[in-house]
Amino acid sequence: MLDLVIQNGQVVTADGSFAADIGIAGGRIVTLGLGLDAPQKIDAAGKLVLPGGVDSHCHIEQLSAAGIMNADTFESATRSAALGGTTTVISFAAQHVGMRLKTVVDDYAALARKGALVDYAFHLIMAEPRPDVLDEDLPELAALGHASIKMFLTYDKIRLEDAQALAVLAAARRHGMMVCIHAENHGMIQWLANKLVERGYTHPKYHAVSHPRLGEAEAIDRAAAMSLLLDQPVMIFHVSTVEGLAAVRRARAAGAKLWAETCTHYLVLTKADLDRPGGEGAKWICSPPLRDAADQEALWQALADGTLQTVSSDHAPYAADASGKYMAGPEPGFKQVPNGMPGLAFRLPILWDQMVNHGHGSPEAFVRLACTEPARLYGLDDRKGSITIGKDADLLIWDPARAVTLTAALAGDNTGYTPFEGMTVKGWPTTVLRRGEVIVAGSEVRASPGSGRFLARQGGPAAQPTGRLAPELDPTQNFGAELLESQAADVPK
Ligand SMILES: [Zn+2]
Repeated sequence: MLDLVIQNGQVVTADGSFAADIGIAGGRIVTLGLGLDAPQKIDAAGKLVLPGGVDSHCHIEQLSAAGIMNADTFESATRSAALGGTTTVISFAAQHVGMRLKTVVDDYAALARKGALVDYAFHLIMAEPRPDVLDEDLPELAALGHASIKMFLTYDKIRLEDAQALAVLAAARRHGMMVCIHAENHGMIQWLANKLVERGYTHPKYHAVSHPRLGEAEAIDRAAAMSLLLDQPVMIFHVSTVEGLAAVRRARAAGAKLWAETCTHYLVLTKADLDRPGGEGAKWICSPPLRDAADQEALWQALADGTLQTVSSDHAPYAADASGKYMAGPEPGFKQVPNGMPGLAFRLPILWDQMVNHGHGSPEAFVRLACTEPARLYGLDDRKGSITIGKDADLLIWDPARAVTLTAALAGDNTGYTPFEGMTVKGWPTTVLRRGEVIVAGSEVRASPGSGRFLARQGGPAAQPTGRLAPELDPTQNFGAELLESQAADVPK
């Protein structure tokens, strides 16, 4: 017996599109066919039906390493997500030095339970991989359904030295977890930023100069080498440059099991936004920084040829006022500005518009990058990311003809601005369902705070080692295998 049927829509999946009604019972998709009937009906005639978006990289209610609270709560961020058609988020539980990871995760989980309107999981940020964290907290957290770690190769206070990064990779390998990496060379950034400031070059536009493109490429190369040494899969977050893409391709050619994403803003904005008069450009400060038009073209190519697997928002919301971007005054130096931009609301509409209306890809490719692949890579594809029988009924009634001009008010987050202000896109989610329940109708959000659910995960195949260790650590060749002991025993044959 069906509870609800979505009728007369054109269903879009990563593999193809077809006309079908979608039958929903108990919050799940239970049948696809024609002429389905149920007590409750939603007519999608003339519209598309897409899976709900999966945003695998967003910062929500998070305390930064510099001690700055981001502007969004789980309620405001996930409201914003829902308005733009994102029904699953993976945000962060951020350890800082001195903290137990288990306690950190409990704290973020409590915030999400109270506020989240969409379903959620956490990446565990490791700022201090001490033995108690790796040997006690991590196994416990893995058993509770946490399946990914994030580490930073730059940023004061949370960056890891290479030896620490290796300890994290080895621990992740024991638990079949994905490791996501912010890959930029810390020394290059530190040296350049200090030189710029010494000489008085502090305008926001110098932020782009201080994060050199070679710093991204070098850190990806290093991450890839560490991944190969320990045979631990990694995800390179927010690739932004031609040079970074080349490093991703080198890593794969060398045999690394390495995934990579980019973010909405690198595809449609450039560093020209940092060069606005006065302190205006501070709103566009994020890391890695916005780049050039040639990088945008290379990123689109990389999305088309499979170099990049997903597009996330990297929603990192700091208010455009004295509590956030302008805490150091109306014309802050680039080093005084919290890094990050809001983007949860508009990821899907911008990506759709660029791909389908501007020739960068098909509706099916859009679904793959924005929904299906992020669900698969992070171990959510048993429930999320596609319109197939048995999956959660997270669905968007998508109007491909609806043109919308993007504004801060429409985004619904707490930052008070959008970096995409004034951009007009065509294609919009007019109705959003989460587990078979209408949570957005037009511009009305109906879900209540706390109705989003925690998604316990296990690292899927994308996070599993290949079984090929670097020669130094190959258990069949060398005694270095002892270093990996239990890990080596887990390697699938
Ligand atoms: Zn981020």
